[in-house]
Amino acid sequence: MSRQDEIRQGLAAVDRRIEAACEAAGRARDEVTLVVVTKFFPPTDIEILHDLGIRDIGENKDQEASAKLSDLACRDDLTVHFVGQLQSNKATSVCRYADVIHSVDRPRLVRALDRALQVGHRGSGEVTALVQVSLDGGAGRGGVAPEDAVALADAVAETALRLGGVMAVAPLGAEPGAAFARLREVSEAVREAHPGATWVSAGMSDDLEEAVAHGATHLRVGRAILGSRPSLG
Ligand SMILES: *Cc1c(COP(=O)(O)O)cnc(C)c1O
Repeated sequence: MSRQDEIRQGLAAVDRRIEAACEAAGRARDEVTLVVVTKFFPPTDIEILHDLGIRDIGENKDQEASAKLSDLACRDDLTVHFVGQLQSNKATSVCRYADVIHSVDRPRLVRALDRALQVGHRGSGEVTALVQVSLDGGAGRGGVAPEDAVALADAVAETALRLGGVMAVAPLGAEPGAAFARLREVSEAVREAHPGATWVSAGMSDDLEEAVAHGATHLRVGRAILGSRPSLG
C-alpha cells in the first residue's frame, strides 16, 4: 500500500470515530477541529495530509518543527500548532512559525512569548495561546495547576498573544473521562473571565471519544492516523 493510501485510511478511520463521538455527545461535527500531530514524521507526510484536505498540523519540538516547515510547499495553507513543552529560550523561534501554542504553562513563558511577538511572527494574524493545565498533580508532563489556570489566563490576556482557551494531556494510567471533566471545569472558570477563550484542546489517539464527550474543540491525533512513530535514534 502506498503511504498516501495508508494515511487516507488512517484519516478515514479517525474521522469515523470523531463523527460517532460527536453524535453520541449530541454535538455538531464542525465544533471539533482535528489537528494531525506530525512529529517524527517526514515533511512528505505533511504534503500528503494537505492533499487529503488537512489544514491543521501539530509539532512538539522546536528544532524539528522549524526544520520541517522551512521548505514545505503547502506551508502557507496550514495552521501550525505547537503542542510540546516549550522552553522560554525557544519563544522567538516558535513564534516564527506557530499559529497556535498549546503549551503555555507559566508566567515566565508568557513574558518570553510576549517579547518574542514584539520582534515579529509569521503572517499577519495573531498567535493564539492555550493555557496548558496539569491534571496529574504536577508529575512533569507540563501544565499549570488547575487552581492557577485563571490567573495564568489573565496574564496571557494582557499580552500580544490571543488567549484561545485551555489544553491538557490526560494523565498516564488514569481514567481520561475524569481528567477531561476536570479540564472542562477549568475551561468554564477561564471563560467566566474571558468569554472568547472557548477552545478546549484535549484528546489524542487513544482517548478522543472521551475528549469529545467532555467538550473538546481540538483533538491532537498522531499515531491513529500516521502509524507508530519512527524513532529518531
Ligand atoms: C504526540 C502528541 C500527541 C499525539 O499523540 P498520539 O498518541 O500519537 O495521538 C498529542 N498531544 C501532544 C502534546 C503530543 O505530544
